Amino acid sequence: MSDHNSDTGLETIWDRSDLQKPRCKFGEQGLCCQECFMGPCRINPSSEKKFRRGVCGATAETIVARNFARMIASGVAAHSDHGRQVAKTLLIAATSRDSGYSIKDVSKLKKVAQVLAVPFDGRSKEDIALEVAETVLEQFGRQEGEIPFIKLAPESRQAVWRKLGVVPRGIDREIVEMIHRTTMGVDQDYRNILVHAARTALADGWGGSMIATELQDILFGNPSPIRGEVNLGVLSENDVNIILHGH
Ligand code: SF4
Repeated sequence: MSDHNSDTGLETIWDRSDLQKPRCKFGEQGLCCQECFMGPCRINPSSEKKFRRGVCGATAETIVARNFARMIASGVAAHSDHGRQVAKTLLIAATSRDSGYSIKDVSKLKKVAQVLAVPFDGRSKEDIALEVAETVLEQFGRQEGEIPFIKLAPESRQAVWRKLGVVPRGIDREIVEMIHRTTMGVDQDYRNILVHAARTALADGWGGSMIATELQDILFGNPSPIRGEVNLGVLSENDVNIILHGH
């Protein structure tokens, strides 16, 4: 605990992190599996043979890949659900004058519309925004094809992804498949699991997260750099410090 905090009794993330040491070696290496109630299983790949597999037969490679893949799936779910809520907010802004939201960046709206093949000539910004929001919301439950923002990546990169078969079909689609594949008794091959983990991660970067970023620009305006104070330096000794945190 820092000197200041030990004086005041305040506890920070660093204090709690110190208290977790020494950390569990199985957990640190991703070798603890809790995917089903036959476990938890702890694997020691360098031990004698009988300790090298979980109860279901999963190897160290499978367990590490499953744990990592499930972390990816939860991160993609969190980012993408944010994107979903932003899309719903754009839809409300487009259809309700009393929503408190408005379309601030029409130029960005048209750029996004173009990527989504939504026509914009001669239409009101509300009309365009409504179709953009509806088109984006369809990307979550889409079962086949490719998410449209993938076209914004460099062409050579798109070609690599297509060759590997990792272009996401739909955002929720890939998250669900990731959880399904990593369930006990489904996909035991760490290579398959990691290939789908890449597809799931792309559903975030070029799907959910990009939807959130692009649509927030439309709603709140394109951000520009400003100078500001950050981190604990914002706290003032002589003021009541109220910090709002959101993610
Ligand atoms: S999925 Fe396999 S390794 Fe994981 S807890 Fe169940 S039995 Fe153990």
